Formats: sequence, C-alpha cells, structure tokens
Amino acid sequence: MKTSRFGQRLVVILGLGVALPALVLAGLGIFLTLRISDAVESQSLRYDHYMAQQVVEGFEQELLAHLREAVAGAEIETRNGANRPAIVASLAQGTHEFRSADFVPLSQLSDYLLLVVESQPLVYGQATRGPHRARFAGMMLRNGQGEIVGAGGWWVDPRVFLQNHLQGVMEERLASNTRIYGGIESTRNLSVAVIGPDGEALAKVREPGGNAEFGTALMEGPFDGYAIRVAPTGNAPVSWARRFVLIEVAFISLMGLVILGATLFGLRYTVRQLELARIKSSFVSNVSHELKTPIALIRLAVETLEMHRVSSPEQTEKFVRLIGRETRRLNQLVDNILDFARLEAGQRVFKFTDVDLGEVVHETLDSYRLRLEDQGFILTVDVPEHLPPIRGESNAIAQCLLNLLDNAIKYSRTRKEIRVSATVQESEISIAVSDRGIGISPRDQRRVFEKFVRLETGLVHDVKGAGLGLSLVDQIVRAHGGRVEVSSALGEGSTFTLVFPRVAQEEGTRSDEPQARTAS
Ligand code: ADP
Repeated sequence: MKTSRFGQRLVVILGLGVALPALVLAGLGIFLTLRISDAVESQSLRYDHYMAQQVVEGFEQELLAHLREAVAGAEIETRNGANRPAIVASLAQGTHEFRSADFVPLSQLSDYLLLVVESQPLVYGQATRGPHRARFAGMMLRNGQGEIVGAGGWWVDPRVFLQNHLQGVMEERLASNTRIYGGIESTRNLSVAVIGPDGEALAKVREPGGNAEFGTALMEGPFDGYAIRVAPTGNAPVSWARRFVLIEVAFISLMGLVILGATLFGLRYTVRQLELARIKSSFVSNVSHELKTPIALIRLAVETLEMHRVSSPEQTEKFVRLIGRETRRLNQLVDNILDFARLEAGQRVFKFTDVDLGEVVHETLDSYRLRLEDQGFILTVDVPEHLPPIRGESNAIAQCLLNLLDNAIKYSRTRKEIRVSATVQESEISIAVSDRGIGISPRDQRRVFEKFVRLETGLVHDVKGAGLGLSLVDQIVRAHGGRVEVSSALGEGSTFTLVFPRVAQEEGTRSDEPQARTAS
C-alpha cells in the first residue's frame, strides 16, 4: 500500500510537476516566438508598402522631370502666341522616349485628367481612337497673358517608360534611403518589380526571398493599371527571422516532445516498478503459504501417528502417503526456489551428459503416477522407445517435467486428462504435456513465462503457486539450447512443449562433459 501511494504521488509529481509545466512553457515559447515573428513581418510589410509608394512617386517625378525639360521650348512658343503646328514641332524636339508629340487645345482639355506632382498639374488621358489606345501625358501651356491654352505633351507607352526607368528610380529613390527603416529593414535588401495590367512582372530589381509577402502600390494617371511590388530579398533580416523562427519552433516542439517522452517513460517505469513490487510482495505471501501448508499437514500426520491415534493399518498407510506427498511437494518447491535463485544469480551450473529423454519421462511419471491417480486423473503416455539422446542434465529436465505436470494438475477442473508425448524431428526432440484444463488466453501466453507472474483467473486464486515454475522451465530449457512452446485456448486446455536440439551423430558418442552456466 505504501509503495502504491508513493507511486501515485510520483505519477502526480511527474505529470503535474514536470510534463505539464514543460508543455505549457514550450507552448508559451512557441506562442511568443510566433508573436515576435508576426510583429517583425508586419513591420517589414509596412515598410514594403511604404517603399512601393516611394517608387510610385519616383516614377511620377521622373515623368515630370522629363516633361518639364522637353516642354520648356514649347512653353516659350505658346507664350509668344505660336500656332499649333509650331508648338507641336517644338515639342517633337523633346525627349525621344515619348512616341509622338501633340498639342491638345484647351477646348478639348475637358477630356483629360490632371495629376498633381510636386504642385505641378500633369495632364493625362487615353486616346479613344487609334490602334494603340495610347496614353497622353503632358503639361499645361499658357499664352502671353498667362491663360491656359492647352496641353502639350506626348503619346506615351507606360510599359516602356517603366521598364526603362525602374533601375534609375531605384538608385535615386532607394539608394539614398539606405538607412535601416524601423530597425528591421534596409533598402539594400529590397526586391522591386513593376507589374503590368496582366499581372506579369515587366521589370525587376533583385529577386524576392521565398515565401516573401509583397507590399504593393497601385499607380495612377498615365501609369494607371500598373503596380509596384516590393518584397524583402532572401538576405533581408525578415527572411532570416522567418527561418530562425521555423528552426526555433521546431526546437521548442522537439524539446516539448522529449520532455513528454521522458515523462511517459518515467511513468511507465514507475508503473512497472510498482507492478514488480506488488508481484514480489504477493510472491512472498504465496511462497510462505506454499511452505507452511505442507509443513502443517506433515506435522499433523506425524503427531497423529506418534500418538497412535490411527485405528487401522489403512489409515496408517493413508497418513504415510500424505507425508510422502507433502514432502515431495515441499521438496519440489524448495528445489524451484533454490534453482531459481541460482539461475538468477548466474550460478546454476548444468552438468551435461547424454540424456535419454524417454527414461527421464518415465522416471518422472513413475514418481508422479500416485498423485495423479489420487486426484482422479487419466494419464496417457505416448513416448516412442529408444529416443535419440540429447545433451543435458536429466535432473533439470525432470524438474521441468514436474513443473509442467504440476501445472496440468493444478489448472484442470473437471476434465482430468493429461497426455505426455514425445516427437522426434530431424534436428529436434519435443516433449509435450497437455491438459484439458482452464487454458490460457493468447494475450497471456508469453507472460506466463515471466517470473512471479500468476494470471488473474478465478482458479489461480484457489490453487497454490509461487509463479516461478514456468519461468524456471523456460530458463532451464534455454540453457539446453532449446525452447518452450505453448499452445492453448481458454476453457479448452493447454499444451506446453519442451523442444531440445538433437545431438549430431558423431557428437552423441563424446565422453567429455561440457558444462553450461546460466548467464545472470
Ligand atoms: P504457478 O506457481 O502460479 O503455477 P507457474 O510459473 O508455473 O506458476 O505458472 C504461471 C501461471 O501460468 C500460473 O499462475 C497460471 O496462471 C498459468 N498456467 C501455468 N500452467 C498452466 C496450465 N497448464 N493451464 C492454465 N494455466 C496455466
């Protein structure tokens, strides 16, 4: 009881004191890491949006600067009252990047829209005719009185302009802005792309990092339908942060799993130790009961005989038989315990000789027949004569048989039939002991060979035993290079088979006696 309460406390301490806090801390660690990474990423995204906006403005100013320079001549012509062809001719001398110069009179200006860049109104619009549906970009032109008379400018291909100027805008806008923004990003680590109306990237400066989120700014005026997309490159701090976060989350999860695994292992170990402690304590009580019962019976019989209380020779014989039977039982138990202790300590030395298994079986059954008959068992023996010899220790093999017979008796109910048979195969000889008793479920068939194990069936409570017999049989047969097999069905009966290796022909005649020592 004391150990089980201690065990329960240990389970609670390990579970609530170690695993739970460790898992909570690991969860908290993952949560905080993800929150920090989230904050870094959203800060970086804000920065990307800001930079995209900057690039858009850069393009507008670039366009304005080009127009300003190229319109300068046409402005003078207009102010001096020149006619339209002269103004257009002057405009045509401007930058060749623009497709074709045009002067749009004031009367048509209402079709055009204005975009104010650095307090300068840019005129822009889209041609409703023509093959290219080209865009017009220009500036207001005034006459000598300062009145706006029209817009002078060019039919522009925004795609070409954006492609040509991305690098320049980047260098001018961003290179001057290399300072780390918000403490987490630098313009050196930005990838900028111009996106066309069809969603394709027309031009790009640096590749974005994998899984990067984009900050996008839409363009207006002559660049309507185009967009600037900014994302961190693979070398950007945010990309590194994302990688570190992944690694950190993996580490923390692994740590959590290791702690959970260790706790579960600890719990399993504790439960096993508790089970062992329980089994050991029931072993002690089983053994003391096993020892005391025959001693008490023998004492009673001896006292009865000593005091001449028996009235007939038959009764005397009955008491003598009882003394003999209980002495053998006591002897077998003491043998089992001593052998078990020696095997456990690795001190059991087997003296191997050539053994005739048939002889061992018959001798063992002879000493047991009385007990079997007493209890009303029908014994069938099917052992061929002249079995080939095996190498082994006959006493140890007899002890195995005794244990199997003892169990066959103990675990039989009304169908009292026991069969002992031997089979010779090419390389093995088997001795099987079968009963028609309570049987063993498939789940328990391996467990019965573990030391101190007694199955929790109703009958096991009624019959005596220390849980050592089969463990001993298993160890002895293995020391002989063989194995024990069990085939059983609940309620049908069980067959335990001792399988020994056959001795090779030339080996069988050897006279030396090798000794097997059990490993501890
Ligand atoms: P025990 O002293 O309890 O008989 P054993 O090691 O000989 O110890 O057997 C272990 C357990 O295996 C037994 O307690 C019993 O539950 C089960 N067992 C062994 N032999 C048989 C059998 N012939 N039929 C049914 N159950 C058996």
